[in-house]
Amino acid sequence: MTFQKYCWYITSILFIVLSLRLAAKTERVLTLDDGKAHYILEIMKHITWPNEDQLTHFNIALLGQDKNLLNALNNKVSRIIRGKSILITQLSHLNKTDHGFEIIFVNRNKLSLIADINKKQGNTLIISDGKTNNKNLMVGLFVAGKTITLTVNRENLMKRGFKISDQLLDFAGTKADLKEQLKDRKSALNKVLSDAKTQEEQLLKLTKALTKNKRELQQIQTDLVKQNSLLVDAQTQRNKLKNSEQSIKLELTHKKNELLKQQILITEKEEETKKQQQKLQQLNLAIEQNENRLSQQINKLKQQSEIIERKEEKISGQRKFLYLSIAVTFVILLLSFLVLRISYLRKQVNIELAHLNEQLYEHATTDDMTKLFNRRHFLELAQRELKQLQRTKSMGAVLMIDIDHFKKINDNHGHAAGDHALIKVANVLKSNLRDYDIVGRVGGEEFAMFLPNCQIDIATQIAERIRKEMADLAILFQQVPIKLTISIGVTAKLADESSIDNMLYRADKALYQAKNSGRNAVVLL
Ligand code: GH3
Ligand code: MG
Ligand code: MG
Repeated sequence: MTFQKYCWYITSILFIVLSLRLAAKTERVLTLDDGKAHYILEIMKHITWPNEDQLTHFNIALLGQDKNLLNALNNKVSRIIRGKSILITQLSHLNKTDHGFEIIFVNRNKLSLIADINKKQGNTLIISDGKTNNKNLMVGLFVAGKTITLTVNRENLMKRGFKISDQLLDFAGTKADLKEQLKDRKSALNKVLSDAKTQEEQLLKLTKALTKNKRELQQIQTDLVKQNSLLVDAQTQRNKLKNSEQSIKLELTHKKNELLKQQILITEKEEETKKQQQKLQQLNLAIEQNENRLSQQINKLKQQSEIIERKEEKISGQRKFLYLSIAVTFVILLLSFLVLRISYLRKQVNIELAHLNEQLYEHATTDDMTKLFNRRHFLELAQRELKQLQRTKSMGAVLMIDIDHFKKINDNHGHAAGDHALIKVANVLKSNLRDYDIVGRVGGEEFAMFLPNCQIDIATQIAERIRKEMADLAILFQQVPIKLTISIGVTAKLADESSIDNMLYRADKALYQAKNSGRNAVVLL
């Protein structure tokens, strides 16, 4: 610690001591009224009022003008007695309305009022500082010089139900009071002794019972330890049970919800069932009605079945007849169908046969390639026509036509080109025919024409025209042009001529001459 700090502590202590001394000099000197106030409050601490439980506070009245006592009471710092505050009122005289005071302090110059106060105020403690022999005074604070003597009228107070502490009696009681108090104490002590004896006996009993209880307690403690362990087990089980209880509760709530739903469903189903039962009843009724109807109908049916049986017997006979007639009809129909079919097939065969005959005739009379008459048919027709001309003495002519150097066409362009050229030549011949003229293919590249009722010069003209057309003919086979010429031998029917062979012979001869003349020529013989 430094010197400066040490000096500071000493100065502070000196200052505190000086302040305390000054405070002691200024302290107020205690007066007799302060003493009276002190005694009043002390008496209140040691005396208990008969109706104190009902009081909210203590009312003190100072009867007679005594401001000094009032100030002294008011200056008392602690004025709370047994939790109740103190209310002080100063009265110059006592009116009829003034009552309900716990203490009335009667000033020495108001002593004459004590008897009156005692009559009116039953539970009031009467205190006075005046000398008086009034028996109604309960506490006296008698002042002699600078001393205050406190006297307490024990008998008076006890009569009125006040209770006085032993300390107050020791301090302020009279000899008689003290004797009484002693007596009371003795009797109380005796009572206490007898109580103590009985309590001692009870204590002995109790100690015996206590030792017994101790043993029992030890036993209970050991039991308790066992039970504690059991309790722990039980608690663990209880926790488990709680957990399971919670889960069960949850499940229970879930089940309850389900149960509610199912109850709702059940009620719905019950309603449905009721409706269905009603419907069922209706249906049952309907079924009964239907059954009745059915039984009626069955009876009717039975009757009808009997009728039907009878009719069936009739019908079976009729049916046999019907089956027979149907079979006969079917056979007739089948036969007529077969006849019709055969006649149809015969017609078809006849048509086909006619067609084949036509084809056969055409095949027998016509050249397949040029569609001109073949040699045999040409000769038949020409011969027939010649005979007709002979009968009518008419004229006629024959043309024998041969393609020049046809072999070269075959050699140069091929056989198919030769065929194509033959068809073209035949077409030119057909186009130059009159209705009654006859033309035929009489050799490979040789053709013959019979012109009835035709003069020889006309026949020659026709032959010349044909020759010319053939020379001008533009034949195209596979984009290749083919040119050809023909030579024609012409002969006229003689006056008595009847053989076509003779005419053809002469025409052939004329043709030979045309070939020899250089071909592409017409020669008349
Ligand atoms: P010419 O001028 O002297 O009559 O001479 P040519 O070559 O015409 O006479 P030739 O008799 O020597 O030859 C005739 C040829 O005609 C021979 C034969 O191959 C041919 N021929 C005959 N028939 C057919 C046929 O149907 N088709 C074809 N492509 N050629 C034919
Ligand atoms: Mg020839
Ligand atoms: Mg030829």
